[in-house]
Amino acid sequence: MQIKYAAPIFYAVLGLMALTTIAHIVMDPPETWLDLMEALIFIGAAIMLLAMAMFVFRPHIKVANESLSMMRLLKSVATAANESTSIHEGIQTALDQICDYTGWQVGHAFIYSEEKQALISTGVWHVKDAQIFHSFKEHSESVTLKAGNSFVGEVYADSTPMWILDVAHSSVYTRKETACAVGLKAAFAFPIFVGRKAVAVMEFYSTDSHIPDETLLGVMANIGKQLGQTIERAQFQERAKLLETVIRSANDGIVITKANLDDPGPEIIYVNEAFSRITGYTSDEVIGKSPRFLQGEQTNVSTLASIRQALREGSAFRGELLNYDKDGSPYWLDIGIVPVKDAAGRVTHFAAIERDITERKSSEAELQKTMKQLKRANLKAEAAALDLQESLAKAEAANKAKSDFLANMSHELRTPMNGVLGMAHLLADTTLNAEQKEFVSTINGSGENLLMLLNDILDFSKIEAGALLLENTAFDFIDLLQKAGNLMRQQAEKKGVDLMVEYDAGVPSYLWGDSGRLCQIIMNLIGNAIKFTQHGHVRVKASLQERESQSRIYISVEDTGMGIAPEMLSEIFEKFTQADVSVTRKYGGTGLGLAITKQLVHLMEGEIGVESAQGKGSTFWFFIPCHPALASNLCSPLEERYMRCQAVENRMPIGQAQVLLVDDYHVNQVFAEKLLRKF
Ligand code: ADP
Repeated sequence: MQIKYAAPIFYAVLGLMALTTIAHIVMDPPETWLDLMEALIFIGAAIMLLAMAMFVFRPHIKVANESLSMMRLLKSVATAANESTSIHEGIQTALDQICDYTGWQVGHAFIYSEEKQALISTGVWHVKDAQIFHSFKEHSESVTLKAGNSFVGEVYADSTPMWILDVAHSSVYTRKETACAVGLKAAFAFPIFVGRKAVAVMEFYSTDSHIPDETLLGVMANIGKQLGQTIERAQFQERAKLLETVIRSANDGIVITKANLDDPGPEIIYVNEAFSRITGYTSDEVIGKSPRFLQGEQTNVSTLASIRQALREGSAFRGELLNYDKDGSPYWLDIGIVPVKDAAGRVTHFAAIERDITERKSSEAELQKTMKQLKRANLKAEAAALDLQESLAKAEAANKAKSDFLANMSHELRTPMNGVLGMAHLLADTTLNAEQKEFVSTINGSGENLLMLLNDILDFSKIEAGALLLENTAFDFIDLLQKAGNLMRQQAEKKGVDLMVEYDAGVPSYLWGDSGRLCQIIMNLIGNAIKFTQHGHVRVKASLQERESQSRIYISVEDTGMGIAPEMLSEIFEKFTQADVSVTRKYGGTGLGLAITKQLVHLMEGEIGVESAQGKGSTFWFFIPCHPALASNLCSPLEERYMRCQAVENRMPIGQAQVLLVDDYHVNQVFAEKLLRKF
C-alpha cells in the first residue's frame, strides 16, 4: 500500500521542482550566462533524478498497475455477475472475463450436486479454440469428482484456491491424459461460496506453464465470493419465480393485503387467477381496495369479528365466510388468513387462501334437510312398527283364540254327534217300515258327513295352532298303500272308476314316520280323485327318487276326471277354496282337505303340487323324505301275540261282569247302556 503511493508522490515532487525552476526562468529571466547555466543544470538534475526514480520504482509501478487492473477485473466480474439473470449467465461472464484478463485459453466450472454427492460439469465453458480443446471438454463433462478427490475436488473440500504449475507433473490432477493431449499445462481453480459453503469450483488452464500468482489467486477467491452472491440471488429469484407461478396458478384463491386493520381495512396488493375465477373480479378491479367490499348483508358479523381479533393479535384465522361475487351472488369460502411478519417481527401483510365451498355447503344443507326428513320418517316408521307389532300381537292372539275356539268347538261338537250317530245306529236295529228306514239312513249319512267335517276342522285348527305333532314309528308302507287302496276301492267301483295302486320295485317296504297321517294324505288325494272322476281310472303310484343327495318317496294320484282350471291351480291348496262352486255343491266338501294335506306334507318336510288339464284329468303329487326302516323295527309278531293273550286272559264272561260306565254326556250314557244291554 505504502510502495503503491510512494512512487507517484515522488514523481509529483520532482515534477513540481522542475516546473518551479522553469517558471522561475520565465518570470525572472537570467541576466548572465552563468545564471542561465545554473538554471539549466538544476532542471537537468531534476530530470535525471526523475529518470533514476522511474528506473528504481519501475517494478512497484508494475505491481501497482496490476493490482489496479485486478481490482478492475473483480469489479467488472461482480457487476456483470450481478446483472446476469441466471446462474449460468453469471458463471459464463466470469469465465469470459477471467480468461480475457489472464490470457488463459480454457475456463470451466463444476457445481456440487447434492443428489449425486459429487461435483459435476455445469456445461459452461470459455475455450479459445473449440476444436482444439474439444476432447478435454468432452471428458471433463463426463466425469463426476468426489469432494477431496482430484484437483477440483480438493479445492471444493478445502474451500481454498489451488495453482498447478504443469498438470503433467501434478500428483493431484486426474484428467492428465486428455489435458496433456490438448497441450494444457498451468492450471488454477477457486471455489464459489454461498454463505460459508462452497457450492461450485471454477478451473482455468493455460497452454504455458506459469508460476503461481498469489495476488491473482487472492482476487479469484474474492471473485468466488462475489459469484456466490450472484448464485444465491439467482437461486432466490428462481425460487421466487417458482413460488409466483405456483401462487398464480393455484386452485385456491390467494389474496395478499397490506396489514391495515383500521378503516378502510387491509389494502389488496395481489390476487391470483383462482380469486378472479371465484369472484368474477379481475386483478385490476380489486387491487388497492379492501377485501371488506366482498362482504354483504348475510356475512356473519361474528365471523368477521373473529377474523379481526385474530389478525390484531398477530395470529392466523381459519373458518368459513360468506362473500358476494361481482354478480352479487353469495358464495361460501373456506378461508385461512395468516399474518406475514418482517425481520423485526412486525406484521406487514396478510395472506389469505380461500376455497370455494358453496357446492359443499348447499349439499350439506340438502343433506341436513334430508336427514331431518329421514329422522321424521324414522319416527313415524317406528311408531307404525309399534302399531304393527301391537296389531300383529292382537291378530295373533285373535287367530289363536279362533283356532282354540274351533278346536274346542269341533271337539265339543263331536260328542253330541256321536250321540246322534249312536242313536241312529240303535234306531236302525229296531223294527221300522221302509220309509222310516230311509229316514234313519239319511240321518246316518248326514251324520257321517258332519263328523268328517268336524274332524277336518279339528285337524286344521290343531295345525294352525301348531299343536299337531307327528308320530315317528316304523310301519309297513306297502301294506299302508294297499290298505288305503282297498278302503277306497268300493267307492270307486260304485262309480265305475278303476282304482289302481302301483309301486316301483325300489320302494322300501318299511319306513319311519307317521303312518296315520300319511294314510290320511293318500286317502284324501284318492278320495278327491274318485269324487271328481266320472269315467276312466284313478292310478296311485309310489316310487323312490334320488334328488339333491336326498332319497324321497314320491307318490302321484292320477285321474281321468274333470281337471282344474289353470287359474285355480295355485288356489286350491288354500283353506276353504274350491275350484268350482257349482260342481262342489254337487259333490259336497268343505275346501279344507287339500289345505290340511299340504300342511301335513310340509310338516313331514316334503312338497306337494298338481298338474291338470281341464276335461282330461289331474295328477296330484307329493314327496316326503325317505327314512327306510327294517322289519325288525316293527312290533314283532311275538309282541303282538303276547298283547292279545293278555287281553284274552283279562276277559270275563259277560253275565258276571260289573261294568262302570262313565260319560258326562247323558245321550252317550243312554247309548252306551243300550249297546251294552244289546251285548
Ligand atoms: P273339497 O274337496 O272338500 O272341496 P279340497 O281341499 O280337497 O276340498 O279340494 C279343493 C278343491 O280342489 C275341490 O273343491 C275341487 O274343486 C278341487 N279338486 C281337488 N281335487 C281334485 C281333482 N282330483 N280333480 C278336480 N278337482 C279337484
